[in-house]
Amino acid sequence: MAAMAAAAVRAQTILELADAARDEEPIARALRVAGAAGADAASLRDAPLGRLHAAALSFHTALAGARLDAVATCAACGSVVEFSLDADALVSLATLDGPEASGELTVATEEGEWHAAWRAPTAGDLAAVAGRGDAASALLALCCRLTDPHGQRTTDAPSDVVDRVEAQLAAADPLAEVSVAIECPECGTAFVVDVDPIAFVWREVETRARRALYDIDALARAYGWTESEVLGLSEERRAAYLEIVREGS
Ligand SMILES: [Zn+2]
Repeated sequence: MAAMAAAAVRAQTILELADAARDEEPIARALRVAGAAGADAASLRDAPLGRLHAAALSFHTALAGARLDAVATCAACGSVVEFSLDADALVSLATLDGPEASGELTVATEEGEWHAAWRAPTAGDLAAVAGRGDAASALLALCCRLTDPHGQRTTDAPSDVVDRVEAQLAAADPLAEVSVAIECPECGTAFVVDVDPIAFVWREVETRARRALYDIDALARAYGWTESEVLGLSEERRAAYLEIVREGS
C-alpha cells in the first residue's frame, strides 16, 4: 500500500470515501480509509491499534507524500508552533521487530506481587470504549487480566500497578500513541504533543474530495458534462482538460 502512486487513488474513490466516512467515529473512519486503500479492514480491526495507524499513514503517503505538517499551541506563551513529521519514519517504528503484542507482567508492591496477563489494545477495543467517561479503565479491563497478591481476579489495582501495565501496553505497540517532543521557538519551553495519524489522513481525504468537486464543477461548466462523465475520465485526461479550461479563462 505504501507503494501506491498518488495518481492511482481515483477522485471517485476519494469522493465515495469522504461521503461514507464523514459522520463516522475516528476508528470506523480509519478502517474505511484503510479498506479503500486496499488493506484488509477486518484484520486491522482485530490487530493492535498501531497497525491501523500505520495503514492510515501509508495512505497519506500515497495521497500526498510522507510529510505531515502540524501545528501546536505552546502552553506557556500561547505561540502557535509549526512542526512536521515523516510518515514513513513513523510507519517503520510500527513494523520494527519489537516486543510481543501480548505477554505477562509481574509488579511487586508492598502488598505483594500483582500479576497481569495483557495484550495490546486493538482498533476494535478502542472503538468499543470510545466516548466512555471511563475509557482508559474500560480498555484496561478488556486487554488485561489482573490478579492481586492473594491470587484473586480483580479490575481494581493501585495506580503504580496500572501505570506499569499501561507502560507495557504502550511499549508493545509504539504507533498506538504518537507523541512528539517540541521546543517552543519563542519561549524555549519544552512540551509534548499527541499526534493523531487518523486525523492527518482524514484531513487529506477531505481536502482532495473538495478539490475533486471544484474540478468537476469547472469541467461541467466548460463542457456541459455530468458528474459521472467527468469522473469517468482518467486522472491524466481530467487534469489535461482542466489545464485547457484554466488556460482559456
Ligand atoms: Zn512558548
